[in-house]
Amino acid sequence: MQRPVPDSAPGQVWAHTGQSFPAQDYDVVVLGAGRMGTACALFLRQLVPTRSLLLVEEGGLPNEDGATLLSPGVWTTLDVPESRWPEAHWTRTQLSADTWDITFQPRPVVDLHATAGEARIPSRDLTLDPEVVDVAALPWATVDTRAATYRPGAVALATAQAAIRAGADLLLNTRAHLGGDGRVVLERLTVTNTHQIVVHETHHVRAGTIVVALGAHGSHAAEHDLGTHTAHARAYRQAPRVNWPSTDASPVLRAGGVTLRPQHGGYVLVPAIHHRDPAGYVPTGGRLTGVPTGLRRETLEDLVAALDVLPVLGTEALESGRSVSDVPGAWFALPGGTPAGLPQHEQVAPGVHLLLGGPHADTLGLSTAYDLAATIAGVAERPWDRPR
Ligand code: ADP
Repeated sequence: MQRPVPDSAPGQVWAHTGQSFPAQDYDVVVLGAGRMGTACALFLRQLVPTRSLLLVEEGGLPNEDGATLLSPGVWTTLDVPESRWPEAHWTRTQLSADTWDITFQPRPVVDLHATAGEARIPSRDLTLDPEVVDVAALPWATVDTRAATYRPGAVALATAQAAIRAGADLLLNTRAHLGGDGRVVLERLTVTNTHQIVVHETHHVRAGTIVVALGAHGSHAAEHDLGTHTAHARAYRQAPRVNWPSTDASPVLRAGGVTLRPQHGGYVLVPAIHHRDPAGYVPTGGRLTGVPTGLRRETLEDLVAALDVLPVLGTEALESGRSVSDVPGAWFALPGGTPAGLPQHEQVAPGVHLLLGGPHADTLGLSTAYDLAATIAGVAERPWDRPR
């Protein structure tokens, strides 16, 4: 049975409240309701409203374990090749629209360097807090004055809600697998309406188009379930809090490979992603001068290397915890196509598209989700190609 698509009627949501899910077929099924999946679902509803769409998510919205909630939410073109700037600026325009409650806040990104270089200015002109950063050690700065911060988790929630209003259905608490030949296998946990018995149901749904937006699990799903090979990997990233005062006017600071993102009156520390973490890797806390911490060894090494230039990291302000569960962390996709590391999509089987966000999804995630939606819709133009 194919779900009919009435004009502009909102879609249905199945949470775990004992509602029965009729396993009907859809034109499009989007797996994963992180910010990539929710945005792609919304753009598909806008571009091809005649195609029925189901969005499936293993957890809640947004999932606490996903990459989206832990992403720094820093929009900046500093890490993006100039050829992608039109897309990045389109993404910024979407994010800054006042219809969203995502705490969009224009604020500069200040990238500090030890040596002079093109477009670098003296960092002492920037009145940075000397207890946070040692400007004598890093006398030069690149400044992105167009940069902004926002909450990626709120973007996922807002785009999911907009997609549902535009007719997308949403199935929560359901783990999805690719069944091959346009089939999706859905393992759903639900409860009886007296909330006493947990029920495990398996459904099979057919779809002409499947979007795999499972974050760090996406490439594994494509490889394991479909037997294809991909060039993508994944990495674990921790983001400890630094309780040092920040304001709405504080810039995002980047020094010694570490980013300090102002948030909730303090900072969140975002280490660089250096390399993939191997399959089976389980993050474990390292030791700092013999004392166990919640920061894993790789992150500790980054922080020790940055101590000279970011003295605040040597103070009690850094919340390093006692075990890994004390420090927020998440798995990210590391897209391996060209250019490596940037958000991208790839067709991995007939009708099956892998959509990956990764470390630069704050700047290019929405446009990449749009690009896939337009590809599926058969629309050639992209809004960022329009003459201004
Ligand atoms: P992205 O930035 O690519 O959106 P996220 O990690 O935030 O990355 O989102 C991926 C989402 O996919 C998460 O919300 C996660 O819970 C969900 N997910 C992962 N594996 C499955 C699965 N097998 N079935 C359903 N949802 C899944």
